[in-house]
Amino acid sequence: MSQARPLRRCMLAPVPEIERAADLLRLSVDYHLSGDRARARDLIKAADLPEIGAWSDKLWGKESKEIHRFAPVADAPPTLSKEERHKPRMPGKALERQILSRDGFHCRFCGIPVIPKEVRKALRKVYPQELRWGRSAAEQHYAFQAMWLAFDHVVPHHRGGSTSLENIVVACQPCNCGRSNYTLEEVSLLDPREFEPVRSDWCGLEQVLTEVPQATVS
Ligand SMILES: [Zn+2]
Repeated sequence: MSQARPLRRCMLAPVPEIERAADLLRLSVDYHLSGDRARARDLIKAADLPEIGAWSDKLWGKESKEIHRFAPVADAPPTLSKEERHKPRMPGKALERQILSRDGFHCRFCGIPVIPKEVRKALRKVYPQELRWGRSAAEQHYAFQAMWLAFDHVVPHHRGGSTSLENIVVACQPCNCGRSNYTLEEVSLLDPREFEPVRSDWCGLEQVLTEVPQATVS
């Protein structure tokens, strides 16, 4: 007989280097928008902290089973065939904006600040060396990878979850991919919708998309 297991807000508490990287990236964007690309470049590089990569890897890498603590749950929803799953799989832009205005730019599980992929792509065009982004996790800037904004189905899409404001929350990519298609119960997670979203002035560095950089200093 299985024992009741303690429920948790997230599968692995975030490391402090993530907040440090967020501060560095915020400053980097300030310099970028003021036209000082040399300082912006240095700060993006400084935010590429391997401790963050080690945290992400624990959630979705080879050793992640121990972190997930998966246990079968009676009456858990079965995995549906592709045809049976809710369509569309991912939210459109209008629904994304509704979710963001409710949740803000923090993971609803672990609380870390997150960055939309559009921001990463815009910065990468200017700083392709420092904002490295290859196919494998090891080839990706550690902070941008961990802070990559995901729209996570609370009841997994594969298990019958709908693509709706009620069932989708903002998450970081490690919490999203780490949980994969497990239900909250199967990995002993509390429902993030029962807790208030983190409120802060972090807005995902979206000012990069709306403000025009000043003339380049260097
Ligand atoms: Zn998270």
